[in-house]
Amino acid sequence: MTSIYDFSLKDLEDYLLEKGFKPFHAKQIFRWLYDKRVSDFDQMSDISKKMIAVFKEELTIDPLVLKEMQESKDGTRKYLFELQDGCLIESVMMIFDYGYSACVSSQVGCNMGCSFCASGLLKKQRDLSPGEIVLQALAIQKDLDNYGKRLGNIVVMGTGEPFDNYDNVMKALSIINDPYGLEIGSRHISISTCGVVPGIRRFAKEDLQYNLAISLHAPNDELRNQLMPINRAYPLDVLMEALREYAFVSNRRLTFEYLLLKGVNDSKNEVRQIKELLNGLNAYINLIPYNKVSEKDFETSSDENALRFYDLLKKAGVAVTLRQKKGEDIDAACGQLRANHLK
Ligand code: SF4
Repeated sequence: MTSIYDFSLKDLEDYLLEKGFKPFHAKQIFRWLYDKRVSDFDQMSDISKKMIAVFKEELTIDPLVLKEMQESKDGTRKYLFELQDGCLIESVMMIFDYGYSACVSSQVGCNMGCSFCASGLLKKQRDLSPGEIVLQALAIQKDLDNYGKRLGNIVVMGTGEPFDNYDNVMKALSIINDPYGLEIGSRHISISTCGVVPGIRRFAKEDLQYNLAISLHAPNDELRNQLMPINRAYPLDVLMEALREYAFVSNRRLTFEYLLLKGVNDSKNEVRQIKELLNGLNAYINLIPYNKVSEKDFETSSDENALRFYDLLKKAGVAVTLRQKKGEDIDAACGQLRANHLK
């Protein structure tokens, strides 16, 4: 059965019309789903019994099943959810000075094979539906409801490559962004790709204000080929050309994510290469401490080296931020909680 969370507002209007109901009820139903956050059709008290009966016959309204939750000392929460078919996915809630942020998954497992990543240890089983992506954000919002807090930001940076599940991710984000949906502003929504160039080109043609982040992690092809197999399909010159076009068309600032890997990508050499790569682009680079994955040999750069790298980039005129460590004391690496659970 179809989940009602798979419907955008327009889909629901079309569905209601097809069933002989007035489409304006779609907004009322969205309010029940995303504002009052009910998880039972019977709680929709101003919706006719006839309509509820059709929903019960044809649609599901089930939330995700929480299998495990870990909380870090810094407030980061990691959730392991079970889907209707028994697949497991992870989502993370992080607290920043600008508010509460959810990092959601877009696929069950991932085929991109980045060498430092726990998610890539388990190959892709399937894409997530729009509803399964929306429900992650909704579950985190419901958790925050207990504290009277509001989810303000969404990043599609969990397990999976969003541009490998393009249509479902875009539909999910339209529901998350909808004023009748979770009402998270476009500029508070980010999509992170490992460098799937056809996806970047397609995204450039959308008239959307979402942020685009690129997992860079290496500023030269030799190292990037080792760390991220996607680079063999779309090497840096091809990637950067697509990004320059995106920046030109969208007029939006790009974010480059850069995991700090001790002795791998954190030397002076990389500072120079990053400067060259980003030259002339409206972009900044976000340095991220690496969360250790037990199956991998990589370590995060020392605090001292991370600061040195940050300072050198700054001195070189590169716009740079250094992210605080998050969830160090839990299975914070992307995919780690799921991998450990499946072991
Ligand atoms: S880092 Fe992202 S794209 Fe790479 S394997 Fe992990 S989940 Fe996939």
